[in-house]
Amino acid sequence: MPVDIIDDAFMVCTDCLMIIANDDASGLDYSLSEEDAAKREKVIREAMAGIQREEGQIVVGESDRDDEFSARPCACCGTRLAGQRHHCVILSSGREAWPPGRSGGLLAGHLLGSFVLGIQAGLGVE
Ligand SMILES: [Zn+2]
Repeated sequence: MPVDIIDDAFMVCTDCLMIIANDDASGLDYSLSEEDAAKREKVIREAMAGIQREEGQIVVGESDRDDEFSARPCACCGTRLAGQRHHCVILSSGREAWPPGRSGGLLAGHLLGSFVLGIQAGLGVE
């Protein structure tokens, strides 16, 4: 199944990179209080979830395309705190798009269709 790169310059801050790369937000505690770190982690995870739902999988890119210093907002959490930006890319998930909200019925119909086909195939083999 082909995997397409949807965005090949998805520049994220160090906090986001930590979570994207290692699914680990423990480093946030170094610069923030426990409470602020928890809030920050929630913002980042929600941003990531939205991007993954609407666009695709965020994966770590090439470290030689990192920006040592950038004032551009983080592409993930949107922080405007200037600093390092790390190169990531967004991959299409390789699945059919499934926009939430409008295709629930379509999906159910699709599943039902597959089910019926499955039964027919089963009958054909018998
Ligand atoms: Zn970020």
